Amino acid sequence: MGILWLNEIGKDDIPLAGGKGANLGELLNNEIPVPNGFVVDSRTFFEFMEVTGLRYQVGDMLRGLNVEDTDELNRVSSRIREAIESAEIPEEVQKEIINAYRKLCDEEGEEVFVAVRSSATAEDLPDASFAGQQETYLNVKGEKEVVEKVRKCWSSLYTPRAIYYRVQHGFRHEDVSIAVVVQKMVNSEKSGVMFTSHPVTGEKLCIIEAAFGLGEAIVSGAVSPDTYVYDRVAKKLVEVNIGEKKIMITKNEKGETVTVDLPPEKAKERVLSDGEIEELVKFAELIENHYSSPQDVEWSIERGKVYILQSRPITTIKERKVEGEKLKEGQKVLLKGLGASPGIGSGKVKVIFNEKEINKVEEGDVLVTTMTTPDMVPAMKRASAIVTDEGGMTCHAAIVSRELGVPAVVGTKEATRILKDGMQITVDGEKGIIYEGIVEIEREEKREEVFAKSKIITATEVKVNISIPDGAKRAYETGADGVGLFRIEHMVLGLPKHPMKYIRDGEIEEYIQKLYEGMKVVVDTFYPKPVWIRTLDAPTDEFRAMEGGENEPIEANPMLGFRGIRRDLIEDIHFRAEIRAIKRLVDEGYTNIGIMLPMVTNVEEVRKARRIIEEEGLPITKIEFGIMVETPASALIIEDLVKEGIDFISFGTNDLTQYTIAVDRNNENVAFLYDETHPAVMRLIEHVIKVCRENGVKTSICGQAGSYPHVVEKLVKLGIDSVSANPDAVETVREIIARTEKRILLDRMRED
Ligand code: PEP
Ligand code: MG
Repeated sequence: MGILWLNEIGKDDIPLAGGKGANLGELLNNEIPVPNGFVVDSRTFFEFMEVTGLRYQVGDMLRGLNVEDTDELNRVSSRIREAIESAEIPEEVQKEIINAYRKLCDEEGEEVFVAVRSSATAEDLPDASFAGQQETYLNVKGEKEVVEKVRKCWSSLYTPRAIYYRVQHGFRHEDVSIAVVVQKMVNSEKSGVMFTSHPVTGEKLCIIEAAFGLGEAIVSGAVSPDTYVYDRVAKKLVEVNIGEKKIMITKNEKGETVTVDLPPEKAKERVLSDGEIEELVKFAELIENHYSSPQDVEWSIERGKVYILQSRPITTIKERKVEGEKLKEGQKVLLKGLGASPGIGSGKVKVIFNEKEINKVEEGDVLVTTMTTPDMVPAMKRASAIVTDEGGMTCHAAIVSRELGVPAVVGTKEATRILKDGMQITVDGEKGIIYEGIVEIEREEKREEVFAKSKIITATEVKVNISIPDGAKRAYETGADGVGLFRIEHMVLGLPKHPMKYIRDGEIEEYIQKLYEGMKVVVDTFYPKPVWIRTLDAPTDEFRAMEGGENEPIEANPMLGFRGIRRDLIEDIHFRAEIRAIKRLVDEGYTNIGIMLPMVTNVEEVRKARRIIEEEGLPITKIEFGIMVETPASALIIEDLVKEGIDFISFGTNDLTQYTIAVDRNNENVAFLYDETHPAVMRLIEHVIKVCRENGVKTSICGQAGSYPHVVEKLVKLGIDSVSANPDAVETVREIIARTEKRILLDRMRED
């Protein structure tokens, strides 16, 4: 038996807390304002059924039931429900429920009204549209009442509809259980529902329905609510329809839910102000980003404060639009994976397994492979889309395809097995879906036009990440304020041989020339905007396939091994080669270069690197000198590191997350735990920003999290100086930053 508080529940707790309980817990834990409450978990129901002997009685009553016989079904259902509702709940169980309710009252300093709702442990999962056993009791007050309503929720597991559904879907009655959510009631002055995106087309239009009083008025269809449409791309309210809200469902002094007639003027009054709509849209975006899918959200406002009561995925979207493109509905889905580079591409499949086969891929083909390598870049450029078996959001295919602007889906597990040469397919790089055939696309110019006219200026700089010089022009066209990360390893991996082989073969000059040429493309394209070049971060496993790579040590865990600055300081001749390439650019007059050291873990590394830079005759004053903060060590000793005279730091959250929470970023078995907003990661980031600000050191982020709106918002609030995003995310990040900055200013003005 157990009581679980909402803040103790996560999305994986459906078996115990039910779909609704898990959903509320997840929202609460992601800074969505959900009213506090607890869940009487599914074990409690089992215990109740066991102790009272009802489990067997109910089993007997259901045995042999013909669910197609409606009368019989209704009869059995009411007998079971009566039995449950009249059975004595064991004292221990009652006590636990009462204690939890008391705690909730203590928090408020008075006996509170609660909503008691059933939370099914299987049937209301996102892929089942069944909504039968949704018993909800509002305005419940008092210990006895709460216990009573919990029992009523339990009995709702046996409504005729629920029994029928289980039989139809092959669920065993003995296996099902139910949790009950008891949540503080919001005394709603206004409430309603909102779709975070358009429920039919999937466009980023937030649709809000609102009425006075409790939301039941809308849900039950008793009123014509106001409807507001907010365009999340253009950031403005585009439609307001005032409905006639003839009645309001509310609570009377006794706490009873009553329906009140509204006078005609009140019925026609607009429910939500512009400010309230913006506040709701803010949460809509947070929630949609969190779930990575459009949501249907129930909300309410009490004394000016917004509460989110429930969120579930919208299952009605049939057509979808991606950056101005619309797919026709009804296509067969062949495969799913991670949408790694947005856009829609279609063409003939070409499956390749190594770089020797890249000539198979012709202009407009869809490149399908296990995982792309730098040698495949020429084919990636010709491809209309890319699909891989392996990889996550930071794999080679994901990074490079985003830079090239080619739609890509990674991590499909079996693309090379299922997709065959010559098949015609369509790849949706945002949603991560591969369709059979060439799906018709309707182009839409609206979004681009809007952006072209609105160059937002933000105080926090918005930069862009680059990995291949070929991507520089496209990245520059985003209007970014500079390059916050130029990962040179993709360029190096694309060379004919391993860097150390050049050096061993006495061809260091040739290697330097290649580095110089690649770097120059980026530095020149962006001049005079700053370009932070990161020195080589080459994990041994990734470099082994190169000619000369056979000398790479075999490591049990390359992520923790010979990579980053620790490697460059041992193979310091290589580090010197990089510095010489950069020095050539500085000597040519480029004043926009920064050098960034990867994987720093101690002060000595920074000191040594700096010494080598100076020994190579590159005055440190002619460049910006900084480090990646991507190990917990560097974050925890940031005070010591800033004393080494660094100009900037940049958070490498891809690594910082994996090292902080012990989750290998490339290991799909633990991918569900990978969370850049884990409190431990956020605490490290907060600490580093604080210390850097105190010491005049610039802060930035260049990990993948810098392309996620919900993370960016947090970082701006913490005072980060710049955010470096993937090229495709620059525009969105800029908008999020602008909005967050405005919000901070507004809040300050209000405080004053
Ligand atoms: C990071 O770790 O966040 C980062 C930007 O570096 P990389 O992904 O190249 O390891
Ligand atoms: Mg890193």
